[in-house]
Amino acid sequence: MLLRKMLLALGVSAATMLASAAESGSDTKPASIGPPQRVTPIPEKPVESLPYTPSLDFSAMDRSVDPCEDLYAFACGGWKKNNPIPADQTRWDVYGKLSVDNQRYLWGILEDAAKPVSGRTPTQQKIGDYFAACMNLDAIERAGLAPIQPDLRKIAALVDRAKLASLIGELHLRASTAGLFFGAGVQQDARDASKVIAVVAAGGLGLPDRDYYVKTDAKSVEQRARYVEHVAKMFELLGDPKPAASANAATVMRIETALAKASLTRVDRRDPHKVYHRNSVASLGKLARGFDWPAYFKAVELNPDPWLNVTEPAFFKELNARLTQESLRDIKTYLRWALIDDTASYLSSPFVAEKFAFNSQYLRGVEEDRPRWKKCVAWVDQHLGEALGREFVARTFPATTKEKAVTMTKQIEQAMQQRITQLDWMTPATRTQAIAKLKKVRNKVGYPDLWRDYSSLTIERSDFFANVSRAIVFESRRQAAKIGKPVDRGEWQMSAPTVNAYYDPQLNDINFPAGVLMPPLYDAKLDDAPNYGNTGGTIGHELTHGFDDEGRQFDGDGNLRDWWTKEDAQKFEKRAQCIRDQYSQYTIVDDIKINGNLTSGEDIADLGGELLAWMAWQEQTKTMRLAERDGLTPPQRFFVGFAQWACSNDRPENMRVNAIVDPHSPPPVRINGVVVNMPEFAAAFSCKATAKLVKKPEDLCKVW
Ligand SMILES: [Zn+2]
Repeated sequence: MLLRKMLLALGVSAATMLASAAESGSDTKPASIGPPQRVTPIPEKPVESLPYTPSLDFSAMDRSVDPCEDLYAFACGGWKKNNPIPADQTRWDVYGKLSVDNQRYLWGILEDAAKPVSGRTPTQQKIGDYFAACMNLDAIERAGLAPIQPDLRKIAALVDRAKLASLIGELHLRASTAGLFFGAGVQQDARDASKVIAVVAAGGLGLPDRDYYVKTDAKSVEQRARYVEHVAKMFELLGDPKPAASANAATVMRIETALAKASLTRVDRRDPHKVYHRNSVASLGKLARGFDWPAYFKAVELNPDPWLNVTEPAFFKELNARLTQESLRDIKTYLRWALIDDTASYLSSPFVAEKFAFNSQYLRGVEEDRPRWKKCVAWVDQHLGEALGREFVARTFPATTKEKAVTMTKQIEQAMQQRITQLDWMTPATRTQAIAKLKKVRNKVGYPDLWRDYSSLTIERSDFFANVSRAIVFESRRQAAKIGKPVDRGEWQMSAPTVNAYYDPQLNDINFPAGVLMPPLYDAKLDDAPNYGNTGGTIGHELTHGFDDEGRQFDGDGNLRDWWTKEDAQKFEKRAQCIRDQYSQYTIVDDIKINGNLTSGEDIADLGGELLAWMAWQEQTKTMRLAERDGLTPPQRFFVGFAQWACSNDRPENMRVNAIVDPHSPPPVRINGVVVNMPEFAAAFSCKATAKLVKKPEDLCKVW
């Protein structure tokens, strides 16, 4: 349960990603798209080489659109037409498509590694046998509920409330989410980033966000009713008679609603001060008296001394109320639900189907569940990511790409330094600190210098669920072992094949896995213009996160320390507000507008990133003679290359979920909302002053 995924979900690890993870699906799209179309399934087989699509793809464009009115539609209209959403995807976009291409390629690696021949390396044995066990659906069906029976029996056997803490600790050690009442893990101490400490955080909810429990509109009321039905069905699958299952579902909903009401909103959790509360175990014991915290930490194998972070004290007060006021019977009912919700995806088909029917089909509009091979590839990546990543990098990531990405990153950083130096609104005192922070940013490109050692993790061909369990415990212990040791600055939070990137404010580093540095994102076959527009913009985006409204609150050493003069902080906020006001006007779906307070960090990074990419591209090509190609001038190629990273189609249901949970604005807005603030764009396409994507100079938003 100390997995990165969980910490990110909790907003504890402050890593800020470029896009939402492909597996969970995310982000959003324009209102102009019709109902999802069905597509003929691609023949399902592994590929031996990755397909090539250029990073500037003319077939993806729609030249009938005026770019000055809608750059996104101009650059992506063809893509949208040619790429309907596959039945098993929440949404479909350039990132998601590349991610599935990578999975299809990894599938081949895993099928090879799964052949039980002699001579496999220990790494190949682990990833191969994990994959083979995962694909063995007969064995998984035969096992039915057996894999979680031991834990169900432990819950059933609980008769003494005093033993509850150690039981929850034991379950948390093996849990993959923060769904069991709360979450626990480790993090760098916000006030002293050189130290790793334990953290307990709000959790315990089965719906995607606390807002689902409190909103009063008709859709939210319907979603809650459907959720209770789903929980009841899960209890029936656990063997409860129908009336008992319904009563149990109502109990779960009552407890979760109380926890949700005591939880911070996503917007509040963006404030690092609101989620940092240093406590000793003794002071946590005073906050939540009815729970044996020392017994809990012993069972979850976390050292909470000399202090830990209790992210949301109000939540833990409410948790205490639930744990002391609810009957033991109701607490056990809740734990049974939380356990099945946490493990259903790894069990036999009735559990998998019910989980899919609610979480993916009903909530996000997905038509079909993913084929088994995709799930198994994704789980190998999740549980043995650096073993799989090593195989991936050896086959796909040339040293020349790494060199080029490192060069671009240095150029982007130089551009940032130039911008900071030239800012007219910042006083010298803050400027010096900003440059000091910039100089401490570490760049990580492609893959880790040292691959993780999985030798103490046993993977057997015979038992899928046991492999999953051991992998989660391995990760829990690996995280727990960081407490009291120097921070490992070389560690990655994404695997090498991942099509995404992130900034970590406490490590103050920017991270670009190999998976995000391939066509159609970075394309070594093409000229600089689309590559700087696309990959340069991504690098600039991550770097800007260090200086967005959240990231700016950390210093170059990763400490939550205010290095701003009051006056400069106010000026920054005024500029950030310009962005929030602009984005809050865009519609996501139906009558739902962007929550500009949720997306402002990403929106600031999108704009700042593209400005830096433009400067770096100008510098890179200043002595070159650039020519028009295929009817586009070099600056036009820069902007179309930029826009094409975001081509996508989405489902209305999924857009509704993302309006609540996704800190990124919808893809069309991530393009048009940026260029409307760039006079360089208007000049590149000779846009009229009255065009939609042209602002008056005095209305331009600009932070960095
Ligand atoms: Zn981002």
